[in-house]
Amino acid sequence: KHSKLPDHQTSIFSVMGKMALDHNAVNLSQGYPNFETDDHLKDLVTKAMNDGYNQYAPLAGVPKLREQIVQKIASLHGKEYDPSREITVTNGATQALFLAITAFVHPGDEVIVLKPAYDSYEPAIELNGGKPVLVQLKGKEYSVDWEEVKQAISSKTRMIIINTPHNPSGNVFSKEDMTRLEEIFRDTNIIVLSDEVYEHIVFGDAKHHSASAFPGLAERAVVCASFGKTFHNTGWKMGYCVAPSELMKEIWKVMEVNVFCVHHPTQRAFAEYLKEPRHYLDLGKFYQEKRDRFLELIKDTPFKAIPSNGTYFQLLDYSAITDERDVDFARRLILEYKLASIPVSVFNKDQLDHKQLRFCFAKKEETLVRASEILKKFE
Ligand code: PMP
Ligand code: GLN
Repeated sequence: KHSKLPDHQTSIFSVMGKMALDHNAVNLSQGYPNFETDDHLKDLVTKAMNDGYNQYAPLAGVPKLREQIVQKIASLHGKEYDPSREITVTNGATQALFLAITAFVHPGDEVIVLKPAYDSYEPAIELNGGKPVLVQLKGKEYSVDWEEVKQAISSKTRMIIINTPHNPSGNVFSKEDMTRLEEIFRDTNIIVLSDEVYEHIVFGDAKHHSASAFPGLAERAVVCASFGKTFHNTGWKMGYCVAPSELMKEIWKVMEVNVFCVHHPTQRAFAEYLKEPRHYLDLGKFYQEKRDRFLELIKDTPFKAIPSNGTYFQLLDYSAITDERDVDFARRLILEYKLASIPVSVFNKDQLDHKQLRFCFAKKEETLVRASEILKKFE
């Protein structure tokens, strides 16, 4: 009777991860690399500890790191944030998202969520008394029907959450998408919460368009990013958000009572590491090679790849194999074939009939080969 989230179930990422472990399965489920983060970065963390940076950091983060992040955004997106007032270093993007939702969503507020969506958004909205208003992405491309988004706006809309590049589909918003978003929201008071954790993982000609790059969005946007995704250390749980100072002021109020600040030595290390842009600029090429390799390995199987332009996930359509629901097929893949994936319907509980599984290809060559050998067992 005390529950604030009575219908909430354990995250699929924990469920699949545990099943993969219990059944000794090749694990392409939860999104994390199974190769190591850079030794140099680890050395920088150790050095910061040895140099005595072991007490609280400033609430918003180490100034040198904030400056590096602000410079990165300026060079990539042409937007100059104020390092002293418009940025917070957080415990991963998850905390940044939660801070923004908690800071702004009042009981009764509506928040537009594009589905399928990453699984932390809706519970965070509900914990704050808000109501998610769901808008489905369309077709195999998981593209946005902006007219539908416009229709979803009401006098109670406080926020829209967008995610580009998109987990789980890999769809990357085009410049036109961002311009439409800007047009629709420009004359409102609605906050745009932009989850850009895969900002550096885009393929081919695709370009990541940050909400920061569009003045009509940047003035109302909280943009969230993740070092874990970019630097292969999801377990360090480091990320940040940027926003105009009047919004950031409110986020700080929540940050202060939530954790106050995040891990200090790691922030020192990232402040050094970010000085070298190749550490993030080469990431798209690195993951495109992995994606292409995975697709090449499975090209003769009945699994059909849904085209994507970013993230380290690949959706595979299995409708040529079975009519089973994705959760059932995903379970059978683990139990009978020893391969773990994520059923797409968990990102989209109202639309159960996806016949698609998500595979994380942020894995070593040998893991991708082992996974492909399993997928090749299907005729
Ligand atoms: N948003 C999306 C779309 C994600 O896939 C993830 C997953 N890792 C996060 C946010 C959370 O990022 P972090 O690990 O930095 O908290
Ligand atoms: N973002 C990761 C994924 O989509 C999971 C992070 C988590 O377990 N919460 O797989």
